[in-house]
Amino acid sequence: MDSSFDSFGLARPILRAIESRGYTTPTQIQVDTIPLILNGKDVLGCAQTGTGKTAAFALPAIQQLIANEDDKSHRLRVLVLAPTRELAVQINECFEAYSRHTNVRQTVIHGGVGSMPQIQRLRKGMDIVVATPGRLLDLLDQGHIHLDDVQLLVVDEADMMLDMGFIDDVSKVVNSAINRQQTLLFSATLPEEILSVADQWLNIPTTVNVVPDAIPIHLIKQSVVYVENINKDLMLIQYLFATPRARTLIFVRTKKDAERVAKNINLVNLDALPLHGNKSQGRRRKAIEAFKSNEAPILVATDVAARGLDFDNISHVINYSIPEYPEFYIHRVGRTGRAGAKGEAISLCASHERYHLQQIQALAGISLSVKQWNFDDFGNFPQLERAHQRRKKTRKPQEAIADPETLDRQEESEQSGWVKGKKKKKKKKKKRQSRVITMDDINSKAAHKKAAGKFAPKKRSLD
Ligand code: AMP
Repeated sequence: MDSSFDSFGLARPILRAIESRGYTTPTQIQVDTIPLILNGKDVLGCAQTGTGKTAAFALPAIQQLIANEDDKSHRLRVLVLAPTRELAVQINECFEAYSRHTNVRQTVIHGGVGSMPQIQRLRKGMDIVVATPGRLLDLLDQGHIHLDDVQLLVVDEADMMLDMGFIDDVSKVVNSAINRQQTLLFSATLPEEILSVADQWLNIPTTVNVVPDAIPIHLIKQSVVYVENINKDLMLIQYLFATPRARTLIFVRTKKDAERVAKNINLVNLDALPLHGNKSQGRRRKAIEAFKSNEAPILVATDVAARGLDFDNISHVINYSIPEYPEFYIHRVGRTGRAGAKGEAISLCASHERYHLQQIQALAGISLSVKQWNFDDFGNFPQLERAHQRRKKTRKPQEAIADPETLDRQEESEQSGWVKGKKKKKKKKKKRQSRVITMDDINSKAAHKKAAGKFAPKKRSLD
């Protein structure tokens, strides 16, 4: 197999763009998929983020557009659907980069921002549109976009569309692109439902599966720390302080967790930002940019908000909560250790999460080493001490609630989960008083017992 970009027969302007991106060798999914797409085949691609799958469909899509050089109408001929705004923007940026030496025009359409600028861009004529399904359907209903000329339709991250409940919207779009000649569907996993829609949408597809090679998570240093939910924030912060890290991505289960954990990390002057679906588009973009530029080297994200986003140089992935599905674990952990770099993934596992952790280990074929985290292991942290002192001096009354050193323990356990909430009634009557958290608090059996009862497994929530 001659695995060079030249061997695909891509046009010179595309090869120049590839060169300026610094790609020398095509990735596996590119080797497998680009020739199929150029040959007009429908493709069902099972590939995860980080495999180079965007280029795998974007490069042949641009090639097909410029192959017909006479067509200068800028009719919408390539439509790409993505589940989130961030992913849509990221994919559009790739199209922009790969088509920069051509006359191909592309734009991105997503919700969360005004539609007028998008409508105005569409009016100019766009060869390629990358869109999230909801806004696209709105514009379709309002007659601002027509899919009659779409020749190539790409559905990216199909399983995520399914998880987010978008599959009916996607179906409507797919059925509106009635004249399409080619359909590509990419999904990180291939559950029954995806195979079923693939059956309806694709025409005798070729299946390309690059999952095992794409994320060699067995090469990433992975471990588990058994710690109850109630103690996770404090343990995590101690760990973050003690560990030399580059970018750190922390995965949480809920939006509320993302907010609280980021807030608590910031209390000790480590820069963290939350990323979840309740944030406005602008704030999400800012969080991503701050993370990428290292302005905020810690990102606390939900699976849905972070899925598919392309971050380099992540040294540590921390599973603040254990994902309920092994695929999610693989997605999360696969964010580190990319391109041969060293990576470490640590999972914080409470009693009620042990079942999921066992399932992950069994299904992913891995065995996590167990780490013991005690305060002793972290030694003395003058930075932590200084940060707390600084905070104490400048804090406003309401900030005291999240201050680990001065918390009323009942409020603390209810509002931030820092430490256990023992002797609630007595404490309620007492005036707020200063109290230093001790190792006993963290390792107390009572706290563990309480947490085990309090945090029963809940229904799956994606974002
Ligand atoms: P994706 O899976 O499309 O999100 O791509 C993951 C990352 O790999 C992105 O940063 C791409 O720019 C990069 N990439 C894609 N193809 C190649 C390649 N052939 N060589 C090196 N990097 C690549």
